[in-house]
Amino acid sequence: MHWSPQHSWKRLPLSVKMALAMTVLVVIVVGVISLLSIRREQDTFRNELQAQASLLLDFTQSASSDALYTLDAAYLRDLIAQTDELGGGRDVPTEIYDRDGRLIADSQGDAVYTLESAAYSTRLLAGNSMTVFDWGDEDLTAGRVVVVGREKIGVIKISLSTAPLDEKMAIVRNRGITIAVLAVVTGAALAYLLSQTITGPMRELTEATKRLAADQLKQDLVTVKGDEITALQVTFNAMSARLTETLNHLNQRNHDLEIANEAALQASRLKTEFLATVSHELRTPLNAIIGFSDMLLMGMSGPLNEKQHHKVGRLQENGKRLLALVNDILDVARIESGRMELVREPFSPQKLIDQVSAQTRVLAENKKLEFKTSLDAELPLLLVGDEKRIEQVVINLLSNAFKFTEQGSVTLRIFSDSDAQTWSLAVTDTGIGIPAHALDVIFEQFRQVDNSSTRIYQGAGLGLAITRHLVQMMDGKIKVESTVGAGSTFTVTLPMVIPEPTPAIMV
Ligand code: ADP
Repeated sequence: MHWSPQHSWKRLPLSVKMALAMTVLVVIVVGVISLLSIRREQDTFRNELQAQASLLLDFTQSASSDALYTLDAAYLRDLIAQTDELGGGRDVPTEIYDRDGRLIADSQGDAVYTLESAAYSTRLLAGNSMTVFDWGDEDLTAGRVVVVGREKIGVIKISLSTAPLDEKMAIVRNRGITIAVLAVVTGAALAYLLSQTITGPMRELTEATKRLAADQLKQDLVTVKGDEITALQVTFNAMSARLTETLNHLNQRNHDLEIANEAALQASRLKTEFLATVSHELRTPLNAIIGFSDMLLMGMSGPLNEKQHHKVGRLQENGKRLLALVNDILDVARIESGRMELVREPFSPQKLIDQVSAQTRVLAENKKLEFKTSLDAELPLLLVGDEKRIEQVVINLLSNAFKFTEQGSVTLRIFSDSDAQTWSLAVTDTGIGIPAHALDVIFEQFRQVDNSSTRIYQGAGLGLAITRHLVQMMDGKIKVESTVGAGSTFTVTLPMVIPEPTPAIMV
């Protein structure tokens, strides 16, 4: 594979990059600080050495001026010997020259009186400076012109070794290196730990993003090269591409669904219209069948024998059942197309009980069931609502109660609720009851507990669906409680609306 430094730097984890960057930074900082401190130490030491040299020159000058005047070489040699002591025990090579620049005495201790002038002393005697410092590689040379009155009578030259300075500098340098190494190690470790806290969550984020975009990244994952940020970038790009794709897909799906929905609505409208037309067309001949069979039973076309009476009676009974079914279908069609309208007029709950009792009495008698009614005395005499539709609700519930009860009783209660905001009507029977799993579904169209073709109870499964629709249209609620084998109670709760009192008519 092709390798390049730039490439491998990119692939390093972020934590390592940060640690490396930190190390370089620390090395630079510590290096600069060490250099500065070495320079400062060097300056201090040079100043100290120069001060020492000045002191020695001062002493030697004051002690030697007389002897120089008289050129007393023996005295000067003694003096030089003392200078070594004054130098703190170390060697301080000293040379003393006369007014012509010739060497008179030096630290060797021998008689060194020369005839030729030395270059060094000649330079000083010719110059204007009384004291001259010369820094060499290994020592500091300090020279002083000895003056008596206005006369230059000689030159003193001493040398001080710079070896202690080198030692001191070596110590400073070593200390700097130790500090630098410690700082680099700690800095790199800290940078690594710090970057771990940053890259840790970032890596988790990257992983999570990768998982999210997993499908899209299947091929790309292996080829992601670089640190966490590069990986995050790649993953993010892939995810955003995937999101865009998913969004486009969803938009397309939405569009398709809208079209399908429109088609479904259209189909539903057609179905409702079809049901309404068919029901309406069925009602006319059915009413004719019932009417004619009525006339036959009443003997208007001549007397019927017992057999004929029975058969025409069955004809009429089935005609009525068919008419009830057609009416139910028409109601469903009206409700679904939103064409069912409610009226809001005052009605008497007592009158309602009387009417439904009259209609269902025959059912109770046929099955020898007790039919009980009760009206809460707390309830106002008049309530506001659609009496016909409320009656339809009660009749539906009572018909079911009688249908599914073989012995015992059916009870209709109308009462005011404790909060006085609503009133309820409850139909209780002692019939077969409804299993818990069916309690919800029985309110759906064409749903019955027994859906088999061999079921013993007649009905199309529309009554409760219509009832629930009507109750909801009246801003009410319907609920059912039932125990299999013991009976059921259907309770409808409606808002309590009391008629406005009519103003008294003044005569
Ligand atoms: P239908 O009575 O025409 O079948 P409904 O919608 O009125 O349709 O009722 C649906 C189903 O609910 C019934 O078939 C029956 O299984 C169940 N059901 C309704 N009322 C009762 C009741 N009082 N006791 C037992 N089952 C009932």
